Amino acid sequence: MFFKNKKIERKVLLDKTVLDSIVTFCKMKHPNEGILILKGKSKKGQIKIDGLAIPPFNFTGPTFAGFPHSFLPFDNSYIGIVHSHPSGSAEPSVTDLNNFFGLVSLIIKSPYDDDNSIFAWDSGGNSIPLSIDDESKTEKN
Ligand SMILES: [Zn+2]
Repeated sequence: MFFKNKKIERKVLLDKTVLDSIVTFCKMKHPNEGILILKGKSKKGQIKIDGLAIPPFNFTGPTFAGFPHSFLPFDNSYIGIVHSHPSGSAEPSVTDLNNFFGLVSLIIKSPYDDDNSIFAWDSGGNSIPLSIDDESKTEKN
């Protein structure tokens, strides 16, 4: 017997190795903002992030990191962006929401230390549950 569950639970699954790369990149950029393109797949509300791309152009400064979307090559594995907030706040700014790209925006706040420093947001500034996919801790079937 099947019961249809119409409510789609949105969820972001972030690969641990991708998180490690984001952390390294953002620490390197500090005190400026760092920005990277997220690569992955989306299926039934579940967004799986398994890679990164460096934007072809980017402008970074202490308060804004961005790039012109028109310079982005068409690639349907690009599902969002991640950027850092050296100020230590993980909330998306109005500028962030105006420059929203793709399905999800990740923000990692200073000091970029652990899983608790990174948050996922949708284009409306609502948070999406984020979990870290650590393969070394997952039992293989
Ligand atoms: Zn921002």
